[in-house]
Amino acid sequence: MQLKSIQDADLKGKRVIARFDFNVPLTKTEPRKISDTSRIDQAIPTIRLILEKGASKLVMISHLGRPDGQVNPKYSLEPVAEYLAEKLGSDVILSESAVDNGVKNLLHLPETKLVLLENIRFIPGEEKNDMELAEKIAQYGDVYINDAFGAAHRKHSSTHAINAFFKNRAYAGLLMKKEIDSLSSLLEKPAKPFVAVIGGAKVSDKIKTIEKMMVLVDTLLIGGAMAYPFLKAKGATVGKSLCSDEDVALAKQLLAADKGGKIQLPKDHVVADSLEGTPAPCPGVSIPEGQMGLDIGPLTIEAYGAHIKTAKTIFWNGPMGLFENKNFAKGTMSMAHTIAATKAFSVVGGGDSVAAVQESGEADKFSHVSTGGGASLEYIEKGELPGVQALKMGV
Ligand code: AMP
Repeated sequence: MQLKSIQDADLKGKRVIARFDFNVPLTKTEPRKISDTSRIDQAIPTIRLILEKGASKLVMISHLGRPDGQVNPKYSLEPVAEYLAEKLGSDVILSESAVDNGVKNLLHLPETKLVLLENIRFIPGEEKNDMELAEKIAQYGDVYINDAFGAAHRKHSSTHAINAFFKNRAYAGLLMKKEIDSLSSLLEKPAKPFVAVIGGAKVSDKIKTIEKMMVLVDTLLIGGAMAYPFLKAKGATVGKSLCSDEDVALAKQLLAADKGGKIQLPKDHVVADSLEGTPAPCPGVSIPEGQMGLDIGPLTIEAYGAHIKTAKTIFWNGPMGLFENKNFAKGTMSMAHTIAATKAFSVVGGGDSVAAVQESGEADKFSHVSTGGGASLEYIEKGELPGVQALKMGV
C-alpha cells in the first residue's frame, strides 16, 4: 500500500494535527539552548506547506528526550517553540500540557494558529500506545500528518494508535516521504555496484543491518571498533581494542556466510595506548599488545576510497574510528569527503555518521542524510516501520 503524501491532502480551512520529531540535543547548562537544530529545520518545509494549503490551525506534537511519563522541565519543548517562532516569523504558542485543560482552552482561541503541544512523553500513555490518549489528541485535528520519521519505529500513541481516528485523513509529511523514498530505493533495485560502509562500536548492535546489507550490496566496508572482532575472528591480534567475545562469535558467523567475499576489513590502523593517548601509525593488520585501534589507517582509507569511487549506490552508517577526538577523526572525515565527491546515490543513516557528515560541511552533497538513527536501520532491516504501516493502513 502506498504512503499518502501531504501533497495530495486538502487542508483548506482544516485543523491539522501533525507529529514531528523535534527531539533535538540541548546544552546542559541553563538557559538550555538547542545545539543542533537540523531536525527542526528539516520539518519546516512541511509546516510551511500546511500553512500554504490554508489550514485554519496547526497543532504540533513532539517528544523530547526520555522523561518517562513524568513532567520534567528539563525536557520542556520551550526552546523548540522559541526557535520555531523565529524560523517561521509568527507566534508559536506552547501549551501547558499535551492534553486536557492545558491545551483545550488554547485551541478555542481563534487567533492562535500555531500551537506546539508540550512534550507528549510527559503523558504516561504515550509510550504505552494508549488508545484513550490517542483519542484525546485526535480531537484537536480534522487531518493527521506524520512527519516524525525519527520516531516511526516506535509504536506510541502519537505515532501509531492515533491513526485509528483518521481513516483516509492521515498523510505523510514531506520529510517522512523523502526518508521512506530514499531508504526504499536502497532496498528495491539499487543501482550497482552498491557499496555499504558500516562502522561504529559493536557488531551486536548492528548485526541485523549487516546481515541485510550482505544480501543487498556488492561490497561491505567495515570500519570503527566494529572491525576488530572480524580481524580477531580471522586470526589477527587486536591488542586492547574494543572487542567482545560475543562480537567475535558474530563476526565468525558473518565471515562464514560471506561466500561472495563482500566483506572488506581494515589493512592498517591508527593506534594509541588509551582513548586519550598519542596517535601512532600501525601499518599492519594486527595491533600490538598494549595498543588499541582508534581509527583506520592510510592504506585502508585508500582501499575503501577506491571501492567508493566505483559505486553507483552508497549507504553509510557508523564512524570509522573514535571521531569525536580529532586525532582519530581522519578515517571518518575522509569517508565523508570521498562519498560526497561521487555521483552515486548516497544515503547516510542516522546517528554519529550524520554528525560526522555535518561536521565535514558536505551534507548537501549527499543524496539523503537521514534524521532517524534507529528508524533508518530498522527500515533497512525490515522494509517497514510500525508508524509508517499505521499511516498507510490505519490501526
Ligand atoms: P555507533 O553508535 O555504534 O555507530 O558507535 C559510534 C561510537 O563508536 C562513536 O562514539 C565512536 O567514537 C565509537 N568508535 C568508533 N570506532 C571506535 C574505536 N576504534 N574505538 C573506540 N570507539 C570507537
